[in-house]
Amino acid sequence: MKLEKAVVVFSGGQDSTTCLFWAMSRFSEVEAITFDYGQRHKLELDCAAEIAGTLGIKHHILDMSLLNQLAPNALTRDDIAIEQKEGELPTTFVDGRNLLFLTFAAVLAKGIGAKHIVTGVCETDFSGYPDCRDVFIKSLNVTLNLSMDYGFVIDTPLMWLNKAETWELADELGAFDFVRERTLTCYNGMLADGCGECPACKLRRKGLADYLAIRGSREAGR
Ligand SMILES: [Zn+2]
Repeated sequence: MKLEKAVVVFSGGQDSTTCLFWAMSRFSEVEAITFDYGQRHKLELDCAAEIAGTLGIKHHILDMSLLNQLAPNALTRDDIAIEQKEGELPTTFVDGRNLLFLTFAAVLAKGIGAKHIVTGVCETDFSGYPDCRDVFIKSLNVTLNLSMDYGFVIDTPLMWLNKAETWELADELGAFDFVRERTLTCYNGMLADGCGECPACKLRRKGLADYLAIRGSREAGR
């Protein structure tokens, strides 16, 4: 029996698309929420909308452009380069972004009668974002339940997976090709395997290569 209704925090990238498939395999009803915060590439929003449409998922796009007012950063501003210096947070970092996104997702979830909120945050490839940590998610879960007097469950299927394991999960869900070909992770706005040069592409490619090597050796061992 499938569990009730879930809302997936969805960007159209590899991680959140894998989460979308994960949610569809578990919940009887799934809706997706995407935040428009003035991303460099509107393509990201188009990509998310297209994936949701293809999968028949109801898609909510929420205007979060105020985030750029508070914290100008490399994800939204063309004049700030995407980079990460040793021991520093990358220039794509926005303080409190997950806190805000998950809080808004919770308001929406309660409004549509969903208890589960699914997010692709991950502590394994921890880039130093404090609000991606498991301890933060658990703390926020309690806070949300208290603030709205409601039994939310925040699901984080990728929390302890590395990038190769995230590809493996997509494969187990029968979504490997879909995730590889239809998602957008690249900071330069190139779909699928991307530009190959930006930090997001490098991380994605390494994970994919690692997973394909593991899958190849398993197949050879059969
Ligand atoms: Zn790229």
